[in-house]
Amino acid sequence: MIPADTPIWLAFLLVSAAMTVMVALRYFLASGLFAWATARLRPGLYAGLSGQISKEIRWSLIAAFIYGAPAGIVFWLWRHHGYSLLYSDWTAYPLWYLPLSVLIYLFAQDSWFYWSHRAMHASTRLFRLAHSVHHESRPPTVWTAMSFHPLEAVSGALLIPLLVFFIPIHLAMLGAVLTAATIMGVVNHMGWEVFPRRFVHSAFGRWMITASHHERHHEEYRCNFGLYFRFWDRVCGTDRGLSQRLDQSRQHSKAPG
Ligand SMILES: [Zn+2]
Ligand SMILES: [Zn+2]
Repeated sequence: MIPADTPIWLAFLLVSAAMTVMVALRYFLASGLFAWATARLRPGLYAGLSGQISKEIRWSLIAAFIYGAPAGIVFWLWRHHGYSLLYSDWTAYPLWYLPLSVLIYLFAQDSWFYWSHRAMHASTRLFRLAHSVHHESRPPTVWTAMSFHPLEAVSGALLIPLLVFFIPIHLAMLGAVLTAATIMGVVNHMGWEVFPRRFVHSAFGRWMITASHHERHHEEYRCNFGLYFRFWDRVCGTDRGLSQRLDQSRQHSKAPG
């Protein structure tokens, strides 16, 4: 760990670098794992996309720094000065607050993503400036999960480092939120549905975003703006349901062989 008496600029530089490496490793681990699964279960799905995938990895590594730097700085400020409402004592809040805090964070992230994402599609200028990079992935792949223009990455990177100053969360629960964000980011861009059809079409599944739902956003652009939940899309009338291609390909994949 970095000694507490390290000059603040050097400490910020070191924690930013360390967290960037962690975010980049997390990206390679999660996307790499699902890329391996895709190659085995849907061979040839990414055929001819190696040029696109190289670009996705380049944008994602820039995004890793943008996500890593504020996260590292806030973590350091908490460790050495106790700033923010992060906590590591399991008894600091009631146990029922642990899952509730995860839901609050996921819903806050989902709400922020829905409205900022919708705004980026509402303005041609903003779309070209900040969001077109993400849509250059046609079709998306496991490596698209963090492929964002730096401006879009900034909008996503600051939310959680700000939230920890307003909404208490246990460090392990924050880890759970970040793990869910990483895995859902990858599987929702994977180009095939990982969840059983029965789940996707269940009463609960119909409120959740999976690959079939987000793929339709990448097909049609002006619908399905959410991140984890279909709540805002449904409330605001922007939900157009699932990608026919993914939903059908799942039915076909049930065929023998
Ligand atoms: Zn996407
Ligand atoms: Zn979009």
